[in-house]
Amino acid sequence: MSSTTVSLPSAERAAELRESLKEVRARVSAAQAQSPTHERVAPAATLVAVSKLKPAADILACYEDGQRDFGENYVQELEEKAAQLPLPDIRWHFIGTFQSNKAKTLAAIPNLYAVQTVTSEKGAAGLNKYIAADRPPLNVLLQVNTSGEAAKSGLPPLDAARDAAGAELTQLARFVVEQCPRLRLQGLMTIGALEASLAAAAARPNADFERLVATRDLLQAALAAAFPGEARWGVEGRLVLSMGMSSDFEAALVAGSDIVRVGTGIFGSRPKKGEAAPAS
Ligand SMILES: *Cc1c(COP(=O)(O)O)cnc(C)c1O
Repeated sequence: MSSTTVSLPSAERAAELRESLKEVRARVSAAQAQSPTHERVAPAATLVAVSKLKPAADILACYEDGQRDFGENYVQELEEKAAQLPLPDIRWHFIGTFQSNKAKTLAAIPNLYAVQTVTSEKGAAGLNKYIAADRPPLNVLLQVNTSGEAAKSGLPPLDAARDAAGAELTQLARFVVEQCPRLRLQGLMTIGALEASLAAAAARPNADFERLVATRDLLQAALAAAFPGEARWGVEGRLVLSMGMSSDFEAALVAGSDIVRVGTGIFGSRPKKGEAAPAS
């Protein structure tokens, strides 16, 4: 715990965070148990606590409760928090819109574990260039726009009826495996439509999550054909899926998600961007 410059929040706030973490963890385990046919890559799904616009003190309280994976959306905020919380085994996930001109800054952040929002060769090449040689390869996930909404970033999903091998997503995946030795293609990430989230809350199948599962299966097949016997992508030949947020993470887990990203459900509602004091 040594050199953190951050103090814990009030005892009341720390207790509140412990309580919500406990509840979310229990809901994650229960939802996982409802997905008996899915062979998840890891035995347990990863819960990423999305701490954007929340103070570093909140992160420290969650860390003390055993939480290790944290998600941040803004490069500068992540940079500041990582400097304030130099914890040896914390794992930072960048989940915000990723622009290639931020690759150098991101790549220098200690304990950056994954960038979940890669959508271009330029972005991947930038991260690959700047990740220091003495660090383990950086995990990257490619963001897929499963809902097709113009406001969401991400590449189009794969469709069995079209040419998966020639699709932009497959080309980017191959680029990462072939041209980016400092990166590890870990899997795919999506947000999905709010309508789908509402449907999920009503326990109906979520079409966007199903689309990401189908896309993953097609992409895995394409990669296995392109790189036979290579262990340079995924985890044991599988690509992991990052899908599910506070309002729909249970449906995502039932659909086969490996990584859920929960913010509000742990930290409570967020201030609007610009009104927060994340550095405190
Ligand atoms: C903010 C954010 C989350 C967390 O959202 P909540 O609804 O607060 O759980 C998850 N994923 C991404 C990409 C986000 O931007």
